[in-house]
Amino acid sequence: MLLEHLQTQLAERDALALRRRRRTVHTPCAPHQQVGESDGQAPREVLAFCSNDYLGFANHPDVIEALAEGARRYGAGSGASHLISGHGQPHAALEEELAAFLAPHVPDARALFFCTGYMANLAVLTALGGPSATLFCETLNHASLIDGARLAKAAVVKYPHCDLRVLEEQLAACATPLKLIVTDAVFSMDGNVAPLPELLRLAERHDAWLVVDDAHGFGVVGAQGRGSLAHFGLRSERCIYIGTLGKAAGVSGAFVAAHPTVIEWLVQTARTYIYTTATPPAVAHALRKSLELIGSGEGDRRRHHLQALIAALRASLAAALPGRSWRLAPSKTAIQPLIVGSNADALALAAALQAQDLWVPAIRPPTVPAGTARLRITLSAAHSLDDVDRLVEALVRAACVVGSLG
Ligand SMILES: *Cc1c(COP(=O)(O)O)cnc(C)c1O
Repeated sequence: MLLEHLQTQLAERDALALRRRRRTVHTPCAPHQQVGESDGQAPREVLAFCSNDYLGFANHPDVIEALAEGARRYGAGSGASHLISGHGQPHAALEEELAAFLAPHVPDARALFFCTGYMANLAVLTALGGPSATLFCETLNHASLIDGARLAKAAVVKYPHCDLRVLEEQLAACATPLKLIVTDAVFSMDGNVAPLPELLRLAERHDAWLVVDDAHGFGVVGAQGRGSLAHFGLRSERCIYIGTLGKAAGVSGAFVAAHPTVIEWLVQTARTYIYTTATPPAVAHALRKSLELIGSGEGDRRRHHLQALIAALRASLAAALPGRSWRLAPSKTAIQPLIVGSNADALALAAALQAQDLWVPAIRPPTVPAGTARLRITLSAAHSLDDVDRLVEALVRAACVVGSLG
């Protein structure tokens, strides 16, 4: 029964061009990778525009060396959860450094390190979203924020994408003592940026808190890569900031930076913090190196190069695809989606790129709304301008194959 049921459902996904497949990467995360199509098959060299490794730190020699050194010093595993015996000195030092890094924007911040951003988001929304709270959730929020809101005991109100007017009405009509506005800072499938100054103003006016998931902004935007609050020059105790460390930071993990009382409450009550084995201390050790690089002149140079790549891609694509119904999303960030429309077209385009040894993922519903399937092009400081040229040329050729559709 179960198997038949699942097979029918899987066949339906095939019919809708919604079946997802994994490819196997044989080399480090970098623009040029060896990728296997399926198990056992010999890998091929591809040029990839898929990762969230925006600064190229996933394969940075200093970060790799710090990870190895961390393993030699602190061993392979943490052995326990943070509240038992898994909280290592590298975790503690990293938290201090992250708190200092965010302190210009979240005054007196304390930081709490999590195994993943998914777990950090579940922690914040379930620990703060009790029965006396209302969560005001942006429609395009990441799945982990959506799941956090589902698990929370709070009332959940969704507001349309970046719609401040509707949000204000909802806030004004809300009678619960605690109100939390919850938003991605940089939208992960669109690359646009939430109106954080206006959201903060609404939070102040309605005595609400602002939960900002900066997975795609931390390390990349703002002075010294301090993230989206820095990008807008914001500073407020009302901000509960979540940064992830598997994207621009190039390693793994996440953190929440917020008022010390908020952080203490998370330590005491957040189940995704308490009931899980602490990340290996070597990872925290590597992240300290990564954080140092983010804030350094090298970080500045990489962010500068990334901006040049973004500008080059947008200019070339605007020139190369005139008159087509495909449209490049209005994004200024490293996430540059090419919105194609149907699932089948997005897949055909991705396949036509793959035939040229380029790897750009097709993103389909339910990750994005129906009818807005897209290629999600992501750029990294590890790309060269030549890589971007090759992508644009390959897209033009692919567009001929997918042909009349475009
Ligand atoms: C990637 C991502 C997360 C999850 O972070 P992980 O560390 O990968 O679990 C959360 N929010 C957003 C917006 C993301 O893009």
